[in-house]
Amino acid sequence: MDKINIKKVAVIGSGIMGSRIACHLSNIGLSVILLDICPTELNEKEKKLNKTLKDKSVRNRIVNDSLLNSINSKPSPLFLKSLTDNIVTGNLEDDTHLISNVDWIIEAVVENLEIKKNVYDLIEKHRSNKTIISTNTSGIPIKQISEGRSKNFKELFLGTHFFNPPRYLRLLEIIPGKETKKTVIDFFIDFGSKTLGKETVICKDTPAFIANRLGIYSLMSTIHSVEKFNLKVSEVDFLTGPIIGRPKSATFRTMDVVGLDTAVNVSNNLLKDLKEDESVSMFKLPGSVKKLYNNKQWGDKTGKGFYKKEVDEKGKKTFYEINLNTDKYETYENNQDKELLNIKKEESLDKRITDLVSLKTKHGDFYRSIFYDSFRYCSLRIPEVSDDIYKIDKAICSGFGWKKGPFETWDAIGVEKVFNEMLKLKLKPAPWVEEMLSLGIKSFYKFSNNKKHFYDIKEKQHKPIPGSEDLVVLDAFKENDVVWSNKGVTLYDIKDGVLNLEFH
Ligand code: NAD
Repeated sequence: MDKINIKKVAVIGSGIMGSRIACHLSNIGLSVILLDICPTELNEKEKKLNKTLKDKSVRNRIVNDSLLNSINSKPSPLFLKSLTDNIVTGNLEDDTHLISNVDWIIEAVVENLEIKKNVYDLIEKHRSNKTIISTNTSGIPIKQISEGRSKNFKELFLGTHFFNPPRYLRLLEIIPGKETKKTVIDFFIDFGSKTLGKETVICKDTPAFIANRLGIYSLMSTIHSVEKFNLKVSEVDFLTGPIIGRPKSATFRTMDVVGLDTAVNVSNNLLKDLKEDESVSMFKLPGSVKKLYNNKQWGDKTGKGFYKKEVDEKGKKTFYEINLNTDKYETYENNQDKELLNIKKEESLDKRITDLVSLKTKHGDFYRSIFYDSFRYCSLRIPEVSDDIYKIDKAICSGFGWKKGPFETWDAIGVEKVFNEMLKLKLKPAPWVEEMLSLGIKSFYKFSNNKKHFYDIKEKQHKPIPGSEDLVVLDAFKENDVVWSNKGVTLYDIKDGVLNLEFH
């Protein structure tokens, strides 16, 4: 196979992901063709202008509106607005021939296997036999998508799973199929990290791969806890946001950004594909959330979801949250719980997490429930979704913007302490955790020689994280290395005659 060189890309599907992926590819100087379906009906504006379904502006309306929405969204998917010049838009009826001379085709259409397969029929008719083809599916196994395709297709096909928003979230999961050429996989690991600026993680071809399988489990377990602990939507977002080192969008705001329809599609596929998973029922939506889905309250893309914003004639904005008990929107106020607000002020994330799981209130019960269940679930998914704990932490942190992954969080609270509490709560983790503790190994990670080491389950010992050999890990420096400190900064001696000034 010739050396792979990517200059021209076609993105099929211009929704939330496709249009933003197109922007990110344009950011790095690639020329991009963005295609979507033609509308089947005229909208009011088009009717007033006496347009017909044959007019080009109508035929390209879906793709052009989607791209415009993305460009105007915040945070911006583009470094510069002028970078849209690198993107040519078109539709899947008139312009598919444009994909015949691209180097890479990314499919980002709705999360529906049948629709995706139809789109690949179309792609097959027009692509060259040198073009790499990838899917951005959130969870459909690669082997199901490529089933029945030619050998040449399968050799050049893989999953390249970007996270939302693709310019900002660092994870790129690379999911090779059984027949994907090694040159294609190696190319994407390198291209993903050096050119696209992503944290690339190779995943096994299991449903929803690593980050979504475990991240969505955690999201669903949080959503189920709302009823159990009688919490409000905004209260859960406070509890699962920056206070535990996760983005401000936390749980429900994230659902609104991602789109409840996409979340439902991914969950339904998981329910169908995960027959052997002991916790599969967690992927079933609670009744209150199903109602939102049926009412098309899908979040930002339909104007309302778990939250809703109203702007009056004077431009004054009012924000509402859904009350999941009554299905009505209510105005909300910021969390006022003094104990929680005090913990939020604490600078150390490890200390905040430890304080929160020790609370004797319903909030403490909530944290113990969501953390311990997610620790149990993640430990049981090895080796199914990954052989190594660090890949799981890396995928979840870079895919969801968390500061600490499940095993890092477990370490922060104390592996043995949590293990014993989990047994009391009937949340038994995988046997390898008990084995690790019985060997006298009390943490999943440790720092030595300025390197981060992870517990290797097969070898039953800590080993340096592969790929970090040439890095100095700043977390490895502790109190002993502090040269000077005040409220604003700490100066560390990081050896080799180098000082590191850390701003607080
Ligand atoms: P979306 O609903 O915003 O966009 C889907 C696009 O598919 C739309 O532009 C629509 O016009 C197009 N489409 C609909 N029917 C079609 C058909 N019959 N043929 C061709 N195109 C059709 O969805 P999205 O969130 O952009 O998701 C796209 C893909 O990316 C899915 O596989 C999804 O699982 C995955 N993904 C989504 C997210 C997310 O946060 N939304 C994150 C990662 C991956």
